[in-house]
Formats: sequence, structure tokens, C-alpha cells
Amino acid sequence: MNAAIAAETTAAVDDTTDARALWTAALGRLQTRVTRPNYETWLKETVGVRSADGEFIVGAPNPFVAEMLEQRMYSLISQTLEALVGREVEVRFAVASSLETGIEVDGARYQPVGETDAGKPDDDAPTTDFPTAAAAIPRPALNGKYTFDRFIVGKSNELAHAASLAVAREPGALYNPLVMYSSVGMGKTHLMQAIGHRIIARGMSVIYSTTEEFTNAYIRAIREGATDEFRARYRSADALLLDDVQFLIGKEQTQEGFFHTFNALHMANRQIVLTSDRPVSALSLLEDRIQSRLAGGLVADIQPPDIETRIAILRAKADASTLDAPDDVLHFLAERVHRNIRELEGSLNRVLAFADLTGAPVTIELVKRTVADMVETAADRQIPESEVIAAVASHFGVSVEAIKGRKRDKKTAQARQVAMYLLREECGLGLVAVGRALGGKDHTTVRHGCERIANQLNVDPHLRRDLINIRETLADAS
Ligand code: ADP
Ligand code: MG
Repeated sequence: MNAAIAAETTAAVDDTTDARALWTAALGRLQTRVTRPNYETWLKETVGVRSADGEFIVGAPNPFVAEMLEQRMYSLISQTLEALVGREVEVRFAVASSLETGIEVDGARYQPVGETDAGKPDDDAPTTDFPTAAAAIPRPALNGKYTFDRFIVGKSNELAHAASLAVAREPGALYNPLVMYSSVGMGKTHLMQAIGHRIIARGMSVIYSTTEEFTNAYIRAIREGATDEFRARYRSADALLLDDVQFLIGKEQTQEGFFHTFNALHMANRQIVLTSDRPVSALSLLEDRIQSRLAGGLVADIQPPDIETRIAILRAKADASTLDAPDDVLHFLAERVHRNIRELEGSLNRVLAFADLTGAPVTIELVKRTVADMVETAADRQIPESEVIAAVASHFGVSVEAIKGRKRDKKTAQARQVAMYLLREECGLGLVAVGRALGGKDHTTVRHGCERIANQLNVDPHLRRDLINIRETLADAS
């Protein structure tokens, strides 16, 4: 920079009234150095508040913008100002505020960042009306019930739950992307939206989109020649939550849009969360094209909930209702509706609605009358033992005879124990019946086998994936 100009501007800097002019000049430069959406969102409405003693105060329209500027653009802004004034500048950000402690400038009150809590809502606070970068990203329509405190944690979902909490606490910092997969109705959307609520409550911008909506928006953007806007919109989010990415299968063009969006966000350390009904789709979509990016990511599965978790979910639901649902009723439902939490909830809702309408007490009798079809469907869908054994055999590449026989090599033994576990879980067989189905094994052997698999599932992601794959084969066949 020309020394004469530097000296001249330096003189001006210490004059409060010139803060505005200097900032206008800085904005002119910044405009060419950040993307348009970033400029529009973060910088456009800022003002130069005060410039004195090597310190420059930038005024932001709200605490959120001030905090984001400080976090994301501090060095860019200070470099820009330094280049203009030709010496070191310490930049501070302030927000308009009605608080008495604020600094009054031009009739408006400005409060330095850090002296207000408004920009950092309580971690556990529900979604508030805290201002976000609404100009660029409207707040997504999230289900108000899909929050962390309404999510029951059990063995089957504790990994996904813990990962979701971590991601909500520090978006972009830990598991990026976070991929959750399970069969339908297991709580993926619930957890994903719980993450969304938390991140929004922290004043950050979130895009929640089903993959279908994303696909439609992308196709529309292509048709209207507005792919720049599409990109800008998705890339300006602090977190992108994309639900049901299995819909990307076979949609080459949308995949292309997704990969670029993914890359851009990932490079900017923005949080990405994906869910999928199909383990293979979520993984292969990512693994093929973005494998190197997966290093910092986490794939968390959700298994079907065990009986204790199912009861706890029903208990929580029942407690939220004004009606009294006794334990035996909840147990009755939890035992019979076991494949899917959505169905489980639905069955209880129906019972409660019926009781509410008719004034009948909530009893097992009532359950039998009101949700007989659901309970029956659950029973109807029960998979034949032979199918479970065949699916396990084929998954592990051993024969059905071997599973039923006495061979003790590692592969066969593992397949046999998985078969035991699934016969209990999927067919609801008792220990003795499982032993019989497997060529006459002792019930203590069966118990040992089931326990071993249950324990192993807690620590072995490969086995978890094995089980999801086998269950999918079974679900596809039924
Ligand atoms: P998915 O997206 O995996 O298909 P959802 O998130 O839509 O499943 O969950 C289906 C229903 O079950 C939702 O109403 C959700 O609130 C509820 N649900 C799922 N898991 C839990 C859980 N662990 N605790 C409480 N409710 C749950
Ligand atoms: Mg879902």
C-alpha cells in the first residue's frame, strides 16, 4: 500500500465520525472476497461504529451475525481493515441492543459481543425465536416433538443418540458426516430433527430437507437455470440435514448436485447429517465418491429396540397422555408390536384415542378390540423359522445343515449363534423352541449363544451391519 495514502487514512481512522466511511470502503473490498450469499447474509447490514486507538468496532444487526462474523470472518475483516489503514487494527463486533450497558452510537445502542448471552442460548433450550440468518435460510419446518428429551435411549439406539448429541453440541467439529441408518420407523428422522432443533437454538442456520425435496429443488434449479442460487442456498447453511438419502439411488444428476454440495459444505466444516433406510445405499453413495471425506465421519446404525426400550417408549407416550395406561397393557403391546417404533406408537395412540372417545378404561381387553389388526399384522408378519435360518446361512456362506449340525469352526459357530438370536427376536421363540429349530440344541447352549451375540452387538459394528443386512433380506422376502 502506498505510504502516503496509508498515513492519510490512518489519520482518519482515529476519528469516530469516519468509522462509517472506512467501513464502507472495507465492505467494498470484502464484497469481492466473499461469496454473494455470504456477503448478503453477514456483511450487508453491518455498519462502522467506532474507530479509535487502533480498535475498530463493527456494528451488526443482531447478536447472531456479530458472533458469526467474529467466528468466521475475523481475520478476513481485520486484514481488510489493516490493508486500508496501513497498520494493525483490533476488530471488535457489537450488536444493536436496548441494554443500558451498550455503547451509544448515532442514537442506536451497541453492545459488544461477549457481554450478552443472547447469542448463546442455553444448550437445552427448546427452539426459540432467536434471530438467525433468516434472510438466506428460512427456519426449516421441524416437528416440535422430535427433540432429544422425547427420545428414549436404549441399547439399540445409544450409538446414534450419542453421536447425534455430540454433533448438536459442536456442529462440524466431530463426526462429519454423521450417517444414521436403520430400517424404517426406528427414530432416524426423530434424531436428525433433534439435532436440527439444537443447532437452531444455538443461533445457527439449518437446512433440513428430505432427499425427495432436495431432488425436486435441484431439478427445478436445472430447469430454470438457477443452479447458482441452488448451490448458494444449500452451501450457506451451518448444517445440512438430508433425510432418506436412499432416494438418491439411480438419480445420477441429483447425485452430482449432492456431491458438490456435500464437498463444499464439508470443506467449510459445516455439519452434514444423512439418514438412510438402506445401509448399502448410504455407504456406497458416500464411499464411491467421497471416500476420503468419510475419514472424519461416523456411520451409526439403529437396531430394532429390545423389549425394555419398547416398554419405555410406550411408558413415555402414555405418561404424556391424560389417560391412565397400566403396565400390563403396555407390556402386552410391547410384546406384540416389535418391528417398528412407528407402529408401536400408532397402536398405543389408537387405544388411547378409543378410550378417550368412549370413556372405556385402558385394558388388555380394549387393546384386543381396538388394535387387533395391528397386533395380528405383527403376528402375521412373523417370519417362518426356516426362512430365518436360510437367510443367516446364506449371509454367512454356510449351509443350513451346517447350522443345524455340530460343526464348530468359527464361521459356522457364529452363524449358528446369530440364528439363535434372530429366532428369538424375529420369531419370538423360547429357548427350548430355538434349540429344537436348530437340530436339537440344549436350551443353555441357546441362552449362551443369544447372550454372546447380544454382547457382541454392543461392540462390533460389523456384526451390527450383518444383522441389519439379514433383517433386510427377511423384510424384503415378506
Ligand atoms: P425413521 O426415520 O427411522 O423411519 P422416525 O424418526 O420417523 O423413524 O420414528 C418413527 C416414530 O417413532 C416417530 O414418531 C418417533 O418419534 C418415534 N420414535 C422412534 N424412536 C424413538 C425413541 N427412541 N424414543 C421415542 N420415540 C421414538
Ligand atoms: Mg425417517
